[in-house]
Amino acid sequence: MTHDQISQTFVDHFGQYGHRLVPGTSLIPPPGDPVLFTTSGMHPLTPYLLGRPHPMGRRLVNVQRCLRTTDLDEVGDRTHLTLFQMLGSWSLGDYEISQSLRWGYELLHDRFGIEHDRMHVTVFGGDDQVGPDEVSLRTWDRLGVPVELTGDQNWWDNGPTGPCGPDSEIFVWTGDERPHGTPGTDDRWLEVWNHVQMRYHRHDDGSLTPLRQPSVDTGMGLERLEMVLRGRQSVYEGDDLMPWIGGVQRLRELPEQQLRVVCDHLRTGVVVIGDGVRPSNTGRGYVLRRLIRRVLTTLWRQDPGLSLSDLQPEPVRQTLERFGQPVPVGDVQSVLGDEERRFRDLLRRGRLVVSRRRSRGPLTDEVYRDLHDTHGLPRELIDELLAQ
Ligand code: ATP
Ligand code: MG
Repeated sequence: MTHDQISQTFVDHFGQYGHRLVPGTSLIPPPGDPVLFTTSGMHPLTPYLLGRPHPMGRRLVNVQRCLRTTDLDEVGDRTHLTLFQMLGSWSLGDYEISQSLRWGYELLHDRFGIEHDRMHVTVFGGDDQVGPDEVSLRTWDRLGVPVELTGDQNWWDNGPTGPCGPDSEIFVWTGDERPHGTPGTDDRWLEVWNHVQMRYHRHDDGSLTPLRQPSVDTGMGLERLEMVLRGRQSVYEGDDLMPWIGGVQRLRELPEQQLRVVCDHLRTGVVVIGDGVRPSNTGRGYVLRRLIRRVLTTLWRQDPGLSLSDLQPEPVRQTLERFGQPVPVGDVQSVLGDEERRFRDLLRRGRLVVSRRRSRGPLTDEVYRDLHDTHGLPRELIDELLAQ
């Protein structure tokens, strides 16, 4: 199945049960939203999950691109990307968790054909405020899927106060031999789907009160689902990442981990640019700048002569097309090219300035500040130059 077929199957599955398709939004949340990028499918729906009636009804489904800077340190492993697509379904005060789990199982098993014994789930086992999630436990028991009970790993919240509740995560076995162990004991159990019950509101004093309208919010990573459906070893072997892997390899052979980071960051950078962000020293622009600089630093460590202008346009074109971004490939390439030039200049000047400062003594916080304010050298770049 291609990405489009996988997404369409998801949307159709929930469509047959009355879910309306909410169009995905760009990575940029609306003005007034404190977060830099959309991090999940539920993010744009927050007001409706808290009780505002949604114009499209109480059953929704969607495909949303998400960006998580909190996952940057994990990028390069088998399963984490900075940018990924989330398949989401919602019951806004309508059906309950047991129904959501049953439809979830039906989709994975009956429609996608994932074998029953390659599935394992986790369920909230209770803490000193809330008892175990008996409903989910019973539902999975009836379906015959093995359950692991956990503590706060199966408790969802979005900060110290606000809506929260227990969740149940679905894992698929990705090992070569027969499935064994549990998600907690063997990381070949790969988390693909989380079903969250928003049931409570947590107050400043830590106490919980039930929400007037409990909802169900689910999210499944498309690239991870593709990985398990195709029996691949990592998300980097999927349709979205393969063109990048090929393109970057033609530029230069890199160690596996570095190759993955470079591909992830380039793909993310292209989509961020496609959503209208330009490199800068603050906010979203700074996230973009750091992604591009990390790519360049990694490449230049291998060969200082490498340039993004030698990259074929194909992966850029495919990525823009996949995310439905009507931006000319040349525009994206020139944003990358300008940033590369700026970074090269900065490094040239930076090397001089830093070594001069260094010869006068250790770099104090004040010197760091001064290098930043007068020469535009961020702390991590100075440290990188010192390390070289
Ligand atoms: P993990 O523990 O693996 O980081 P998570 O608990 O952060 O996952 P959720 O926030 O529950 O994940 O997101 C819902 C789904 O989105 C996950 O089950 C997974 O399929 C997908 N997902 C989450 N983070 C990533 C990522 N960085 N790259 C690809 N897919 C992801
Ligand atoms: Mg995570």
